[in-house]
Amino acid sequence: MERAIKDKIRDTRAGFTDAQAGSAAALRDKVKKNCLKNAHRTFEQGIQCVQVNSMNALVSIQDSVMIIHAPYGCSACASLGAIERLNIYKHHRGEEESGESRIISTALGEKEIILGGEKRLEETVRAAIDRHHPKIVFILASCSSAIIGDDIDAAAERMREEYPDTIFAPIHCEGFKSRNHATGYDLALGALQNYVIRDAAPPKEKGLINLFATHSLSYADQLEMKRMLRAIGLEANIMPYHATYEDIMRIPAAEYNISVCQIFGDEYMAFLHEKYGTPYTVTCMPIGSDSTDRWLRSIAKLCGREEEAETFIARERAEVTAEIEEIRKKTEGLRVCITAGTGRGLAAATLMGEYGMQLLCIHTPYYERAYAEDFERLEQYHGDEFLINVADMQPYEQINLVRKYKPDLFIGMANWVSRLGIPTVHILDAKRPTFGYHGVLYLGRKIEDVLDNNNFNKKLSRFTDPPFRESWYREDAFKYIEFPEDIVS
Ligand code: SF4
Repeated sequence: MERAIKDKIRDTRAGFTDAQAGSAAALRDKVKKNCLKNAHRTFEQGIQCVQVNSMNALVSIQDSVMIIHAPYGCSACASLGAIERLNIYKHHRGEEESGESRIISTALGEKEIILGGEKRLEETVRAAIDRHHPKIVFILASCSSAIIGDDIDAAAERMREEYPDTIFAPIHCEGFKSRNHATGYDLALGALQNYVIRDAAPPKEKGLINLFATHSLSYADQLEMKRMLRAIGLEANIMPYHATYEDIMRIPAAEYNISVCQIFGDEYMAFLHEKYGTPYTVTCMPIGSDSTDRWLRSIAKLCGREEEAETFIARERAEVTAEIEEIRKKTEGLRVCITAGTGRGLAAATLMGEYGMQLLCIHTPYYERAYAEDFERLEQYHGDEFLINVADMQPYEQINLVRKYKPDLFIGMANWVSRLGIPTVHILDAKRPTFGYHGVLYLGRKIEDVLDNNNFNKKLSRFTDPPFRESWYREDAFKYIEFPEDIVS
């Protein structure tokens, strides 16, 4: 089947780096001179797999099943991340009874790796269809199925002949394809276009806006974004989390396209602009008042609804200003380190600025030319000396830095920082509202709480060993990075 969107990887985007470190000023200057190059880690802890993000993006599509064509291990993350998150999401929607998520592994074994696994894939697809009668079957490749040359496109084609009423969407999301796991999102959105929407071109619906959003959004945040868009006269079609077939088919009918952050859906929105002429904007994540202002204003500008947006912003800000000032009395001047995904981390850093905190270090999976302006914007809150550590995961670097900086607060997934006794807050909250003006208060109160009572982390630090040997903390955190300027050929 001819695909309108060809597979692309994000590693080739202008100025892409996933291994770099330096002050905000140093990275900004290099980007401006077009000389920011990716460095190389001679030692790495694991990075996130592309396949996991394709899985995350599509797992919740209603009336679908997902076949992971792989050994068991590749779907291990499904139960830890994708399914747990989906169950929480369904609980918040009051949909506990709406059935399990349907992720099925072909469980490739030694025999299939030697003799080929297409037969196993077809048997699995048949069993899945008999059991669930889905409208859409996603078939996700893995490293092993790609290495042994299993042709998931050809298998999908044969299945189409056998089940003409079912949509088959093969996705080439094997982990070795890209070092940028956001590639997995692009491949997932591309599959919706290539195999579900195809050439459909429904008439435009007035006021309809597609909001492309990752799986990490809580239901509360979805509702908040819908509320904000409704306030400026727009109806949001949130994609693809928990979408129905009908929602997917409405994508080309939207008048506008936006995304929840700088990373998600930008490539797909560019495609939609080219194919359907749908205008779009790439903006920040609406965490914190300033970022929410910017998010809403750029959408309002896109849709010509600036007046409605300004009225809404003034009203919402007035409701939260007094409490923000109150919280700020406790947070002013505190020193903070942040570890988060690129879009969420950037927004969190602006929020810390609003609460008067000083950013010491931000740990971000990627830095590329497209995000340079967003990092530069942080300088108005935090100056240009804060450290940017570009790394997808790599907790050994993070913990070395956090131990040296000894911040008053750490923002991010805190498992290992908690053991240092430092107060920690995470903002990737699948359960609660973190977006918009009221999210500012929720996060501010959460920070207040951990500052008031950090006893749990203090006790952890007293009764547990640090995550790494003492000798590691005396080393340079970037000991295992070879910077391009240091390499003499
Ligand atoms: S697809 Fe490859 S990188 Fe991803 S989990 Fe499977 S083996 Fe690991």
